[in-house]
Amino acid sequence: MNTRVIKINPENPEIDLVVEAAEVLKNGGLVAFPTETVYGLGGNGLDTDACKKIYEAKGRPSDNPLILHISQFSELRSIVREIPPMGEKLMEAFWPGPLTMVFPKADVVPLSVTGGLDTVAVRFPTHPVALAIIRASGLPIAGPSANSSGKPSPTRASHVEFDLSGKIDMIVDGGASHWGLESTIVDVSGEVPVILRPGAITKEMMEDIVGEVQIDPAILSKPTKDLKPKAPGMKYTHYSPKAEVTMVSGDADSVVKTINELVANHHKEGKTVGVMATEETKALYQGDYVFSLGNREDFEEIGANLYKHLRKFDFYEVDFVYAEVFAEEGEGLAIMNRLQKAAGYRRLDV
Ligand code: AMP
Ligand code: MG
Repeated sequence: MNTRVIKINPENPEIDLVVEAAEVLKNGGLVAFPTETVYGLGGNGLDTDACKKIYEAKGRPSDNPLILHISQFSELRSIVREIPPMGEKLMEAFWPGPLTMVFPKADVVPLSVTGGLDTVAVRFPTHPVALAIIRASGLPIAGPSANSSGKPSPTRASHVEFDLSGKIDMIVDGGASHWGLESTIVDVSGEVPVILRPGAITKEMMEDIVGEVQIDPAILSKPTKDLKPKAPGMKYTHYSPKAEVTMVSGDADSVVKTINELVANHHKEGKTVGVMATEETKALYQGDYVFSLGNREDFEEIGANLYKHLRKFDFYEVDFVYAEVFAEEGEGLAIMNRLQKAAGYRRLDV
């Protein structure tokens, strides 16, 4: 298949290009487009065949359900059975935006979208390109991250091209994703909202709106047989680069010293070493590839750079990567959740 790549204005998408992308979706094809979190791989969310194509293109396990993307509030009623009051409040506060909510599903939503579950995950994105394409298609659009399953999520069109060129109909290039980590997922189908995946909309932000919010305990540590994440996709070791990644925590001086000692040892064995640093520390490391995620306190910048850097380590065929860690609070929880997965929970406390 020949994958068309079209460049679009991210703030003010050209209407003729939007219509072209929407036509592909209406005809059962697949279109990757930018959202404020990561690039999504769109297909008609009510069409079993289109969804099957999404799973095939990504190499995604069929038990890992898709998120349906809508472009106006009224669309929600047609795809869910019930909107609980807390869901309504969270919607009002955070939609459009990087929040996905899990609701009891309506019959029109095929089980092939939900991985056989009786619930459906829905998001109302805020990115002008995503909104315009979804609106023009007139459909709820299934839109998982537009990467090959197991790779870091794509934060720019070149990442999508690298993974999916030849496997999908179209890539709409609208520049870099602003937030760079996948949406927060919150299950509102029970008594208390439960966070199934941390993201830009934090526990604290939601608690300000609805009171108590819980976090699925299985996402805070390495999944085990008895502790399985409620979001089926969270059990997979996503986002791992080919290199062996290790998080290193402790006071700043000890972290730098330890990582430089490890680098020296690896160099004796002829290995290539990458370091995931921050602006404050990047000049202090002796790794072969030292990338700064941004300023230590700037979680937005760190989130936006994480996947890009993980992909670069693959590109440079680095053998080992050492990464600084961040506070697991607020938006830092999402960053640490992704970093832990990339590291397979390997961590050195110094
Ligand atoms: P992605 O679209 O690649 O960001 O991944 C979607 C994530 O949403 C995966 O982790 C899924 O397991 C999760 N998800 C989708 N639908 C549901 C649902 N009905 N219940 C729980 N988690 C879901
Ligand atoms: Mg994904």
